[in-house]
Amino acid sequence: MSDTITTFAPGRVEILGNHTDYNLGFVLSAAIHLGVTIEASRLSKDILEISSETNQRSISIELSNLRPLTEDAWANYPIGVIKVLLAAGFRLGGMRLDVSSDLPLGAGLSSSAALEVATVMAAKALFDLEIARMPLAQLCQKAENEFVGVHSGLLDQASSVFGKYHELILLDFLNVTVETVSLPANASLLLLNSGVPHELTGGEYNERRKQCMLAAKSIGVASLRDAALAQLESAHLDEVTRRRALHIIGENDRVLQGVQALRSNRLQRFGELMLASHFSSQVNFENSTSYLDILVELARKTPGVFGSRLTGGGFGGSTVSLIESVCADEIVQRISRDYHRMTGANCSPILTEPSEGARILA
Ligand code: ADP
Ligand code: MG
Repeated sequence: MSDTITTFAPGRVEILGNHTDYNLGFVLSAAIHLGVTIEASRLSKDILEISSETNQRSISIELSNLRPLTEDAWANYPIGVIKVLLAAGFRLGGMRLDVSSDLPLGAGLSSSAALEVATVMAAKALFDLEIARMPLAQLCQKAENEFVGVHSGLLDQASSVFGKYHELILLDFLNVTVETVSLPANASLLLLNSGVPHELTGGEYNERRKQCMLAAKSIGVASLRDAALAQLESAHLDEVTRRRALHIIGENDRVLQGVQALRSNRLQRFGELMLASHFSSQVNFENSTSYLDILVELARKTPGVFGSRLTGGGFGGSTVSLIESVCADEIVQRISRDYHRMTGANCSPILTEPSEGARILA
């Protein structure tokens, strides 16, 4: 058992496969180089003390009385993780967590999952807990679902845990398995924040989720993962529900095609799949915004860009583009300038590569 430990958990970006996680489908994602760092130490009393340098807030709560806070809702992510660990029978004592982060919050890069994963990594190291990587991700998801009350799928936490340098992560949410697919060395990821924060607690996320469940039920399958296009056409769905299902079925297919494209080094083809994914978000899932559409359109016309799409939940947030690494500077300059000209807003760029997942820092 260590007395003090520093953990790091990265943010993630969804590269292909939008809203497919809770539909038990496929996603290609990557951990990025930015994330949440926690300096953790054991305390002699059974309390949980958490401070965040990011928002300059601190809380203290007894382990025997862990409950969601309303004033300091940000702390519910780590509190939830500790609560779920205790409920699962893990033995923990008091601890202090000092949180810092270089990840933008609420930008669709999953700072919430990074905070959860860094917390569980800290508890695991401080108290010698035996938890394999997938159950660890699932435990964080449970905390976010049940304690924070956001019904996010497993994508965010699993990507933060399983990230690998220059590899995309292929997640299969039916079988709950992970594989990696390498990204050619000449390609990088460009994330552009539209400057309009996403608000998944605004109800749209849960609404889309319900529509997908309804579609699966009407088609007669356990989840949309098992639905084929032909079944969709013959099912009696209302127009909106049909389009929602069409998006999920299409996304699953595009992920599998994307893996083939990467394995045969066809980045151009991979880029086309990203653009098709964005188009489906626009017209079928209706989780894009005019700002995200402009970013994708600008990227599409810029030399050196293979493809571009919105990433994460949608309704604001960021786009991800797959680009030729050597063109990065020109691409960023050109899109930033034109985006400002067209919208008056600024898009903050993050240039990254698929990065290592959660770890203990030396
Ligand atoms: P995303 O996960 O896309 O960044 P969310 O709304 O799911 O967006 O999670 C963001 C929330 O997570 C923040 O509003 C805050 O409550 C919490 N959070 C994440 N990182 C930190 C941090 N470093 N310090 C304090 N709170 C954080
Ligand atoms: Mg989140």
